[in-house]
Amino acid sequence: MGLTGIQILAKLPKKNCNECGYPTCLAFAMKVAAGQAEITACPYVDPKVVEEIAEATAPPIRTVKLGGGDYIYSLGGETVLFRHEKRFENPPLIGTYISTNMDETEIARRIELYKRLIWDRIGIKLQPEVIFIQGKVDGSKFIDLVKRVREELPQKALILSADVPSLEKVLSFCEDFKPLLYGASIENYEEMFKLAKEKNVPLTLVANSLDELIELAEKGIQSGLKDLVLDSGALGVKELFEDLIIIRRAAIKKRFKPFGFPVITFPYRYTEDYLLESVLGGLLIAKYASIIIFSDLRAESLFNLLVERMNIFTDPQKPLVVEEGIYPINGPDEYSPVAITCNFALTYFIVKGEIEGSRVPTWLLIQNTDGLSVLTAWAAGKFGADSIAEFVKRCGIENKIKHRKLKIPGYLAGIKGELEEELPGWEIIVGPREASGLSVSLRKLYAELQELKKAS
Ligand code: SF4
Repeated sequence: MGLTGIQILAKLPKKNCNECGYPTCLAFAMKVAAGQAEITACPYVDPKVVEEIAEATAPPIRTVKLGGGDYIYSLGGETVLFRHEKRFENPPLIGTYISTNMDETEIARRIELYKRLIWDRIGIKLQPEVIFIQGKVDGSKFIDLVKRVREELPQKALILSADVPSLEKVLSFCEDFKPLLYGASIENYEEMFKLAKEKNVPLTLVANSLDELIELAEKGIQSGLKDLVLDSGALGVKELFEDLIIIRRAAIKKRFKPFGFPVITFPYRYTEDYLLESVLGGLLIAKYASIIIFSDLRAESLFNLLVERMNIFTDPQKPLVVEEGIYPINGPDEYSPVAITCNFALTYFIVKGEIEGSRVPTWLLIQNTDGLSVLTAWAAGKFGADSIAEFVKRCGIENKIKHRKLKIPGYLAGIKGELEEELPGWEIIVGPREASGLSVSLRKLYAELQELKKAS
């Protein structure tokens, strides 16, 4: 069981020195208990106590990391069964496989798909991020294939499946980019455990049943392996779901250590119909896969799966935001309209879309409102006349334009007078209440500004 904040407080030095970033040891202890702060942030705790607390407060499903440098991918780390209880932590990695059995055309096609299938949605990049590389023929082909994938797709997480000598050779040049090894079975676990330990890389346990999986996991834990991933080897869809739910429930509700690891799945094992495979993938995103390997990547279903994943794994307590700043849209110049709105991502992308559609060159000012929408931000005192005036003066828009006209959202009509007082020399123009009305009102303002330009 995890420790409570009070139990953690009892182990702290109680200096209330603020060096951990929290005003008191009690506040810090509460955050550690909630999993929102690391015990190592307090420099005065005895290392033995750090270990003890870290162990006791670790999530019931271990966080396993793949990749390296700027591309670290976290698996597992989950603490709840249902998203409404708290939130899900780490979205499942999605990808397909490339095999030494494939011909050059097929390998090139699959690599190309990884480069091409990337979408931008409300500022988030949606893309497949993991590749399962299978070595089926001889070791040298496998080594060449891994080298090629590393060169062409250096940011993608790797899962490597081959015989032990080939894996050993491959790890000599890519162990820094922590690949996941696949996999240790009841037949080969001793050599695979040895390799994973020597190279300090995560390892998949591949079993034929849950009982066998427990046996393998217990052996792995006993041998000192920490970063494990589970494959229960389910033969049918029903069995797969049962396994995934049993594993998650046992880990979270019972803190059953052998099941406290992320899980890898292969939906194509259960159907030859790509549509059904995609539907199955959609279910696995919600319950409870940590890695999903498809038979192929097809834009029409992959995009939907990535959006589903984004929605399920977005923290509902944290609004999506865009960065504060000046956003030029449609190539604005010194006589282009200036409009301002909040930094709630949905508002930004709707407003941006409308401005792009209007084709009016526009400077869009995005003010940091902590992700609150226009009216909520105004009600919270984060988007009133004083804060807008302060932002307009500070953001540098005055150096980019030769007029002083600012369009504010229609919902802020009530602050027009006050804002004009706060921004002397500026004319405040109240825009439409809905973004759909922006196009007409921007065109009107643009025409006025062009007259001003001619007269200047
Ligand atoms: S750094 Fe340690 S001693 Fe200081 S306030 Fe934080 S928890 Fe307390």
